[in-house]
Amino acid sequence: MIIKPEEITSIIKGEIEKYEKKIETTDSGTIIQVGDGIALIYGLQDCMQGEMIQFPNGIYGMALNLEQDNVGCVLLGSEEGIKEGDVVTRTGKVMEVPVGEAMVGRVVNSLGQPIDGKGTIATSETSPIEKVAPGVIYRQSVKQPLQTGLKAIDSMIPIGRGQRELIIGDRQTGKTAIALDAIINQKGKDVICIYVAIGQKQSTVAHIVNTLTEMNAMDYTIVVSSTASDSAPLQYIAPYSGCTIGEYFMNKGKDVLIVYDDLSKHAVAYRTMSLLLRRPPGREAFPGDVFYIHSRLLERAAKLSDELGGGSLTALPIVETLAGDVTAYIPTNVISITDGQIFLESELFYAGQRPAVNAGISVSRVGGSAQIPAMKKLSGTLRLELAQYRELASFSQFGSDLDKDTTRRLEKGKRMTEILKQDQYQPMDVEKQVIILYAAVNDYLSDIKVSDIKKFQREFLEYIDTHHRGMINKLSETKKLTEEIENELKEAINEFKKSFID
Ligand code: ATP
Ligand code: MG
Repeated sequence: MIIKPEEITSIIKGEIEKYEKKIETTDSGTIIQVGDGIALIYGLQDCMQGEMIQFPNGIYGMALNLEQDNVGCVLLGSEEGIKEGDVVTRTGKVMEVPVGEAMVGRVVNSLGQPIDGKGTIATSETSPIEKVAPGVIYRQSVKQPLQTGLKAIDSMIPIGRGQRELIIGDRQTGKTAIALDAIINQKGKDVICIYVAIGQKQSTVAHIVNTLTEMNAMDYTIVVSSTASDSAPLQYIAPYSGCTIGEYFMNKGKDVLIVYDDLSKHAVAYRTMSLLLRRPPGREAFPGDVFYIHSRLLERAAKLSDELGGGSLTALPIVETLAGDVTAYIPTNVISITDGQIFLESELFYAGQRPAVNAGISVSRVGGSAQIPAMKKLSGTLRLELAQYRELASFSQFGSDLDKDTTRRLEKGKRMTEILKQDQYQPMDVEKQVIILYAAVNDYLSDIKVSDIKKFQREFLEYIDTHHRGMINKLSETKKLTEEIENELKEAINEFKKSFID
């Protein structure tokens, strides 16, 4: 049989024509309805969950509702210029953000695009924003500390690398301040920090970026910002984008600290989006899967096994409560997902106890094993004595004549609480924390007036810095309160007290 070239070309042409038709029916669709940041699209048969859809005005959408005869899609940008009947196309990719070293020091939006006016980000790598968290065998237990630089936290609610620790409290109780101090304290510690702002005021985010820049913390920090004026879908994807940017570094064996500020607003953005997508509302009108959106985000925090490079991603999610009510829907959800919580109270905050940590109900379930031995030794006593102090303090309000032991405990408790106060943006090295807490726990401060404690602390640490540098170095090397260090410390305290009291 002889094959004529003309026949073959016509067959091939026919096939190509048919093939193009097939592309047209599946890879593009028509908008049936658009409004409120949501578009219903007809067509797009093979569309994937979470796929990026290209709209005619240049913006992207994300396919979320895959129905039998249409696709519900949220718009990640302005819907200006989009109308019914417009043709949209699939990109074949699920939502991605750029990742890489070049992201460090930048402020980006939820899509990873720079918004700091410092030009394009020189990276060609991208990574999907939704990923499955590393499984059990790819992890190891938390064992290295992540120092926040805050005495109240590093001593009693220690955080380990790879842990998820919730910061929870009413509005204006210093939640963001704790997270920022933790970021500032990572200077020179080879930790990449990511601050994800969700639904915050633009002025707040600008202030945070300024602070981090002033503190030279932007050298190792990335800010992912979705402000209150951004659409709900952009606020919704921000933490996942931030997490993906962080995972890049974790997978390279680095340690990463990520702050989600805050997940209450994230849940609200998700609720808005879900209701507009006509998904059924449940408790507090949140959709049924609001637990899942937070659990799959926080599960991505991990300490990887040594075979995978041993990197870690530590997550500090923030949740805002109303009038201290931790039993509301979102707070209980996130409490149950995380490895502990730092509970902040307005009452303490206004009483001048800042950071306003309620040590009684704050916990860290895994960080204890990551604490340095010297601090661990002190923290048990500190916790116990503070608890006793709080109990006695509430009792002693009623009586005036107290026995000697009670008075002593009260006086000691007052001084310990005073020591735990710390100003903003002044994180303290763990060695110095150990030194000052040692003095407080072992009752060296009883003959110092409560109002002088702050001054004592400052001057004593300066004194140690100039006269006992060697002891600090030894402590940071051994991480233990050896007998030798303890003796030197005792001597130093007594010596300094003589000059201070005079
Ligand atoms: P919001 O609910 O608005 O997000 P927040 O709980 O994040 O508030 P911050 O913004 O961190 O609270 O702090 C509230 C105010 O308290 C700020 O003005 C901050 O400067 C101040 N503040 C926080 N921590 C301290 C501290 N340790 N010492 C002194 N002032 C502090
Ligand atoms: Mg805040």
